[in-house]
Amino acid sequence: MEATQKSGGNGAGAAVIEKRSPVTGEVLGTFPIRTAAEVDAAVARAREAFPTWRDTSLDDRLRMLSRIKDVVQTHGEEYARRISDDTGKPLVDSLVTELMAIPLFLDHYRKTAKKTLSRRKVSTPILFPGKASYIEHFPLGVVGVISPWNFPFQLSMVPVLSALIAGNTVVLKPSEVTPITGEIVDEIFRRIGLPRGVVEVVQGDGSTGAALTRADVDKLFFTGSVATGRKVMAEAAKRPIPVELELGGKDAMIVCADANLARAAKAAAWGGLVNCGQMCTSVERLFVVDAIHDEFVALLEAEVRAMRVGGPDEHADMGPLTFRGQVTTVERHVAGAVDDGAKVLAGGTRLDRPGQFFAPTLLTGVTPSMEIYREETFGPVLPVIRVKDEEEAIRLANDHQYGLNGCVFTKDVERGLELASRLECGQVMVNDLVSIVGNPALPFGGVKNSGFGRYHGPEGLLAFTHQKAIMVDRGWSDIEPLWFPYKGKYDAMAQVFHGLLGGNLPKALLAMTKLRSLTKS
Ligand code: NDP
Repeated sequence: MEATQKSGGNGAGAAVIEKRSPVTGEVLGTFPIRTAAEVDAAVARAREAFPTWRDTSLDDRLRMLSRIKDVVQTHGEEYARRISDDTGKPLVDSLVTELMAIPLFLDHYRKTAKKTLSRRKVSTPILFPGKASYIEHFPLGVVGVISPWNFPFQLSMVPVLSALIAGNTVVLKPSEVTPITGEIVDEIFRRIGLPRGVVEVVQGDGSTGAALTRADVDKLFFTGSVATGRKVMAEAAKRPIPVELELGGKDAMIVCADANLARAAKAAAWGGLVNCGQMCTSVERLFVVDAIHDEFVALLEAEVRAMRVGGPDEHADMGPLTFRGQVTTVERHVAGAVDDGAKVLAGGTRLDRPGQFFAPTLLTGVTPSMEIYREETFGPVLPVIRVKDEEEAIRLANDHQYGLNGCVFTKDVERGLELASRLECGQVMVNDLVSIVGNPALPFGGVKNSGFGRYHGPEGLLAFTHQKAIMVDRGWSDIEPLWFPYKGKYDAMAQVFHGLLGGNLPKALLAMTKLRSLTKS
């Protein structure tokens, strides 16, 4: 990804990321591009740290990691400033959607991790009398986390912390587009004084990410585009190691005929334009039923036109695009849609000022054949698709390569739930949108090209463990009914067989007793 200028120079290892402000274009600093050898060295330190971290009790791990809450509270406003400098997003977004999410996430796992990760007893079939069965979990080892630039703090911290709580050590590769945030993550883990090697942050570009996928890690957790996700999975397949992919989205919002239109219009404006639309869970396809289409679009147009655009110091609702290359994608999608008959009701162009600003854009008359409908735009554009009814909306929403989030707006909550169940995606909200990701009790992830695996919830910890099944016998008897010798046991075994398969439990139990007595003799 060519997001920043790189100046090289004195041979291998000397290349740097030259970070420019998305608001003004000025250079904000330079950051190292770590080489494959440096990535391998970081992984080796994480490998060395692993046994001690694994053997640290869960309570102690959680206690150490909870110090992050104090650090975030003390330095939160300074960090929000730096994240906004890095991304261009409003300070409110940096403070709430990036920073505040992490203490809430830690609180959740402080309460629930023990139950999720502890050994638990499960049932044992009567075929195995006197035995007890358990499931327990143990950490994988060293986890490689590769994160994107759109929520560079939250989407680095959540997988890193999940892996750490589960007892793994971690090597993180942040995006080259947002190296200032990568630096904040590194600082936080230094500040809480974790032992050396427990978390290693390797800044760099795609080559650094690729090196991490080839390094001696035990799992890869990747958040980013489908194209890079495929490369990550291909590398993982060579060893093979498990991989988790949190990829793109083209989320559907369905506005039903009976929806609260004022709420739906405000929701669509926020859900499509917050973080400048650079969100895997952004509203990227807005299905509006014919009966209320024009009334809804008029309300939405007013919302979009009222938005203030500017840098973090301008108290704006929306900042610039974070990644320079994204401006071209957004322009191409909008121009292609207009060429094919879509209508621009608001925005549609770059802003005439320095930086990577694109106007909040509302398009109507969007159809499934357009690129803006088929591909992720990842920009401040709301494409409206007029549909006959809710049935057509569901059919179109599901007929797509992506399946991350969705939402349904209707005053009939039961109907909303019914439509929610029929949407092919990982998360759905009724009469709200996007914020479902803020509930750490709910698993989050996609289907289809949006990836697989889940973070948050119990699954978010278990994803960083191996399961181990354990069965225990007290060992008092010298022999088991199923062991040799078989002589004389066939009739009793056949009765167990027919009793169990025929649902006649008393018959099966009686036969088991006989089998045991035969075994003793
Ligand atoms: P990319 O796929 O371009 O990059 C993601 C990360 O992978 C970056 O750190 C990047 O490094 C790194 N990378 C690049 N090349 C390789 C490689 N060959 N091997 C390993 N790592 C590599 O995605 P973006 O950063 O552009 O993020 C936007 C995408 O992320 C969107 O599609 C969005 O929908 C998705 N996303 C998904 C989420 C989810 O939860 N499902 C959440 C948020 C975003 P570098 O940047 O330095 O090139």
